[in-house]
Amino acid sequence: MPIDLTVALAQLEADSRLRRRRVTESAQGTRVVIEGRHYLSFASNDYLGLAAHPDIAEAACVAARQFGVGAGASHLLTGHHALHEALEVAFAQFVGLPSALLFSTGYAANLGVITSLLGRHDAIFADRLNHASLVDAARLSGADHQRYRHNDLDDLEQRLATSTAATKLVASDTVFSMDGDLARVPELLDLAEQYDAWLYLDDAHGFGVLGERGQGILNLTQPVVISPRLIYLATLGKAAGVAGAVVAGSADLIEYLVNRARTWIYTTAQPPMLAAAALKSLEFIAAGGERRAHLTALIAHLRQRAACLPWRLMDSPTPIQPLVVGDNATALRLSQQLADRGIWLPAIRPPTVPEGTARLRISLSAAHRLEDIDELVVALEALV
Ligand SMILES: *Cc1c(COP(=O)(O)O)cnc(C)c1O
Repeated sequence: MPIDLTVALAQLEADSRLRRRRVTESAQGTRVVIEGRHYLSFASNDYLGLAAHPDIAEAACVAARQFGVGAGASHLLTGHHALHEALEVAFAQFVGLPSALLFSTGYAANLGVITSLLGRHDAIFADRLNHASLVDAARLSGADHQRYRHNDLDDLEQRLATSTAATKLVASDTVFSMDGDLARVPELLDLAEQYDAWLYLDDAHGFGVLGERGQGILNLTQPVVISPRLIYLATLGKAAGVAGAVVAGSADLIEYLVNRARTWIYTTAQPPMLAAAALKSLEFIAAGGERRAHLTALIAHLRQRAACLPWRLMDSPTPIQPLVVGDNATALRLSQQLADRGIWLPAIRPPTVPEGTARLRISLSAAHRLEDIDELVVALEALV
């Protein structure tokens, strides 16, 4: 007997947890058209405002005219195009690691890398707030999945010290996607060295945003964090404004993944036109100092202006600035009332975040103006 989906959906609705797709009819940006209405949006990961950049779109068009759209095959057949190769080389050089491998999405990359390196006799030590794709990767690998308290390195160390797993891997988001705070990368690497573990860093929200030239979390500190234990993931669909993900690390690691990572081997290569777009985007990221400086100013402005609100911004130094309102119904009400006023700011609810911490996840972009933030805060004040 099939489960009764009507009942299941009604229950989700009763819990204010029912989700549905909304149709965007404009380009991505701070001004979007959704189902016929215009909105000021605080809801993309397009941190540098590159998703609809005409030069990046043009790079994709040029490549499409020359090479077509479809890659036509997986990378190990004939799908591995010179543009993919060029992107991997440029990326590795940009982040300062020996070698890199392009995946079609960050989700696929996380699944592919973790299941290649870990099996039933191994253990993954994961921050409790890691992205869902890392949770799924751990489950799929069959490894012992140990979730340590968020950013609690004592908890992590205790678990590492008592583990008898053959291979250990510590995995962490670098910028936590629903809270906006940063992982303690140098300390994580120290622990990985001390306990002979891999360190897997998912920099989906850091690449392009952090570091002098946008090279991401590894370049946030001096000296730059480098180690043969390090596996670095950047996604190209967020700040880079394109699609895909790149894993970087030692040359041996990359060659091993080429031979083992099932989500890379058994899938059609990304369209080469997207690699061309990503290569162009890397140029904008490297030269994006002004965009990043403006983003920093926007963050400071929001934090100052939001102090008058009854809800608290989480302690975040990044463009992810969550405003915690608590229960699902309040989060939904505020989101709906903001939409009525022409502001798009979705409510993030469990199970994406822990029960009782429903929030409005304000996501800033270098394409925002200071006045956009004022408009948001004034609208929120009116809804108290
Ligand atoms: C978005 C995200 C991913 C998935 O990347 P996609 O390219 O969108 O599949 C992985 N990890 C984190 C932390 C993310 O925020």
